[in-house]
Amino acid sequence: MSKEEMNSEKVQRIPLLIDGQWIGEEREDVYSVYAPANGHKLAEIVRGNGQDVERAVQAAQTAFESDAWQNIKPFERGQLLVRLAQHIRDHRDEWAARECQDVGKPLSQAYADVEAAARYFEFYGGAADKVAGETIPIENGLLNVTVLEPVGITVHIVPWNYPLQIIARSVGAALATGNAVIVKSAEDTPLSAHALAEWFAASELPRGIFQHLTGLGQEVGAPLVAHPGINHVTFTGSVQTGISVMKAAAENVVQSTLELGGKSPNIVFADADWNKAVEGVTRAIIQNAGQTCSAGSRLLIEESCKAEFLDRLRQKFESLQVGPGERDTDIGPILNEKQFKQIMARIDEAKQQGKIIAGGRAVNPEGGKGGFYIEPTIIDGLEPHCSVAQEEIFGPVLSVFTFKSAEEAINLANSTDYGLVAGVWTKDIDVAHTVAAKVKAGQVFINNYGAAGGIQMPFGGYKKSGIGREKGFVALRNYLEIKNIAVKYGN
Ligand code: NAD
Repeated sequence: MSKEEMNSEKVQRIPLLIDGQWIGEEREDVYSVYAPANGHKLAEIVRGNGQDVERAVQAAQTAFESDAWQNIKPFERGQLLVRLAQHIRDHRDEWAARECQDVGKPLSQAYADVEAAARYFEFYGGAADKVAGETIPIENGLLNVTVLEPVGITVHIVPWNYPLQIIARSVGAALATGNAVIVKSAEDTPLSAHALAEWFAASELPRGIFQHLTGLGQEVGAPLVAHPGINHVTFTGSVQTGISVMKAAAENVVQSTLELGGKSPNIVFADADWNKAVEGVTRAIIQNAGQTCSAGSRLLIEESCKAEFLDRLRQKFESLQVGPGERDTDIGPILNEKQFKQIMARIDEAKQQGKIIAGGRAVNPEGGKGGFYIEPTIIDGLEPHCSVAQEEIFGPVLSVFTFKSAEEAINLANSTDYGLVAGVWTKDIDVAHTVAAKVKAGQVFINNYGAAGGIQMPFGGYKKSGIGREKGFVALRNYLEIKNIAVKYGN
């Protein structure tokens, strides 16, 4: 069947979910999304607009204030989220196939995302009735307590690289704490958000508590984050968009939690366990074809072992399989042509300034016609302050830098505008903890690397990697107001 014939087949239409109703089934204002693996058309997406935002915010306010929602006990909210986790696990094959097709990621990574999403809903479901205020001793005859209240309407702006996981991590926390949520899914990968919307629409949740807006950032995301009726924004994506989201929220004095990516280093000392370090450094940059906010995109290697370590790493990179995600290769496709061209431009730039020691080329794997694929790439010899070394590439591209002392390693690690994650590989506990203490990063992994599995670990960045923390118990605070009540009693 030709691409045209495939593309002319009737495809799924993804409507908005507003106030419990599917909106836009009949609209002509739609755009299409394509499978990254082969360019086949997957769905038509309804382009939400400012009027949809208006309706959704009003519906969220009504739902939030309704007795039906206010009277649901915290543990009942929790049970609902635990049921969702169970539903996701019971249908893990469908959820994984959907995420693999929509984002292009290797199937086993899609399964890991599905399990992580289930864990988020389960974790926050379990936490729903365990979030409590405190009593503060002040003086005799004064009982001082704090009460934690939901902030109200929370907005969740989702990127295209881990849609299911990223929705689960913030929506789980926001619903557990009693808010009404509005999800704006990514332009390119809205399918798992829609599947979640279907589950919520069929659940006993009051309508308007979970809503899903589809469409373009400028047309629906921008009016949503600027709306005076919302109370919190959680955003994951680029620094540039994050800044405009924060400015819009600031106009209404609304808090935002921002997760804006990184240029995370893996720091390898000569005494490290090389088998583990080679594996860890490799996984850190190839996961989701490097399209990961926490990708370990810089290798800082101790000079005395550089040649030998890089040789091992090159062999590892050359053994990796690139191909469609459904074949569960090591590296799947790049999201789309735009992202692909941006990555290739960075590789070309790097070729002028440094030396490619593995990969560096586009490939056409079997079964991947119509998709965009790039070999896992190692670049050496870059000047640490050049743009390739400083800016997020969002592809399977690792830049290598050398250090002679722990101090130099720390300075190099801290030499970008980002500070999301860092890996330290050494058997020397003094060195490991000295580096961990001085690296400016929200998460430091010693002799391991990977933010994904750590549902319970606070996650977020220093510097331009963002503001605030997601995951773990601490994230529940993003969605709560603290009310202090002072009670005078006696004489
Ligand atoms: P983006 O930041 O523009 O988009 C992220 C989300 O924000 C999408 O849902 C988008 O629709 C929405 N959005 C866009 N403009 C908006 C606005 N004015 N107001 C509110 N919402 C808005 O990212 P992108 O264009 O998808 O990707 C560009 C680059 O961003 C990538 O190459 C990568 O470097 C980076 N990125 C980082 C992450 C991450 O995990 N930190 C995720 C995706 C992309």
